[in-house]
Amino acid sequence: YESLVEEARLAAFTLLDRAEELTNPTLRLGITGLSRAGKTVFTTALIHALMRGERMPVFRAMHEGRIARANLEPQPDDAVPRFDYEGHLATLVDERRWPESTRRISELRLVIDYAPARGGRRSLTLDIVDYPGEWLLDLPLLHQSYADFAAQSLSLARAPARAALAAPFLGGLAAASPEVPADEAQARQLAALFTDYLAACRTESVSMSLLPPGRFLMPGDLEGSPALTFAPLDLPSGAEAAPGSLHAMMERRFEAYKERVVRPFFRDHFARLDRQIVLIDVLAALNAGPAALADLEAALDGILAAFRTGRDSWLTALFRHRIDKVLFAATKADHLHHASHDRLEAILRRLVERALARTEGTGAEIDVVALAAVRATREASVKRGRATLPAIIGVPEAGQHGADAFDGLAEAAVFPGDLPENPAALFDPSLGFRGLADAEGGDFRFLRFRPPPVTRNAEGRALALPHIRLDRALDFLLGDRLR
Ligand code: GDP
Repeated sequence: YESLVEEARLAAFTLLDRAEELTNPTLRLGITGLSRAGKTVFTTALIHALMRGERMPVFRAMHEGRIARANLEPQPDDAVPRFDYEGHLATLVDERRWPESTRRISELRLVIDYAPARGGRRSLTLDIVDYPGEWLLDLPLLHQSYADFAAQSLSLARAPARAALAAPFLGGLAAASPEVPADEAQARQLAALFTDYLAACRTESVSMSLLPPGRFLMPGDLEGSPALTFAPLDLPSGAEAAPGSLHAMMERRFEAYKERVVRPFFRDHFARLDRQIVLIDVLAALNAGPAALADLEAALDGILAAFRTGRDSWLTALFRHRIDKVLFAATKADHLHHASHDRLEAILRRLVERALARTEGTGAEIDVVALAAVRATREASVKRGRATLPAIIGVPEAGQHGADAFDGLAEAAVFPGDLPENPAALFDPSLGFRGLADAEGGDFRFLRFRPPPVTRNAEGRALALPHIRLDRALDFLLGDRLR
């Protein structure tokens, strides 16, 4: 009964969206990616490009001068925070600092007035929804029982790449028999240890991707909520939870998490998206090594599974929006020389194709791009002995690599790592990727550059932000709706 009500609600939502669509063509674009993938920077750059875009040769509608204007308008959903475009742009341009990262869902509406190629005037309403990729990776949980979740989480935690990071949690678990009477303090302690383990897997040098439940890392407005006080337990196979046991308590909380947290996100936000860009910090995974790359691949399976969620009932099949295009984007391509941009794209393409081959596909058109939403570096050739080597130049953020390694003011030239021509080479664990290095070969893999200086017009407004292939992303995501 509940699921019927649920589906009727979804259908009603969809009908309302469709009715609006008839009078007012609307596109809901989801922007997601794990923390630090580059969602805030990408979203800010996308809005800025649409509002003041230049230098977008591959985004045809813009290149052909057919976009008359794009204006911000009040968003349709009052209960969702607004994406702080103005604040983020000011941080980026005025302070040359990176804006505050995405920690919850936010939204912004942009109305684009354009001239269709066959003449006349039209407008397209673009609703942008920026949300943590951790929440997207929660959707496959809807099809899992607590026992499935516990078994999968523990096999991940015990895998060689993670076992050391999981040791404190696994230690706590050893002392927690599922049959003991439920105890709030013990549940809290296990949940805290489990959360610490997930967080340890997200540090730059480890860079794991597959870390459900997503709200443990990105709680949004659930910070400190009892909905998050559960953890996987070591269950004997086929074990039924005895009433009043720790097992029963954890199972109940897991089910509550699915019903009160994951399903509402699916119904109210995800199921209403038309298109989706998934940002991935592929370079961070490459820098962290083969285990991180393998984990990223597993996470891609989860992402593709998420796009199929909710497809399995006749009611939703009839009424539901379909996500018809998905773009996977490797971000921060400005950390590489342009000779490697295609290679970065090829690596991501291979990851996505392998995941697609394992899953049943999504029914959506899928593409892959390597981009930098805001390009923080430029290229140069640096003489080193007799050789001339390609280098990238930017201003490293202050205080990295020791207190006074960088002052945040001076430029530095670094040698980007060479990506292999054949992406298959990277899947050979004996072949690590070496990221940025300085002239002495120092390890700058995780170096962060400050945002670039931006030219302004006579009124002091920022002109186009430099980027890499942002126009290609825009053309794929919006081009056909502006034709
Ligand atoms: P979010 O957590 O997905 O919202 O990630 P952000 O958009 O906040 O980006 C995280 C960090 O990645 C930023 O603070 C920057 O240091 C870096 N970053 C994001 N996009 C770019 C880019 O296009 N170029 C460069 N060089 N760095 C970027």
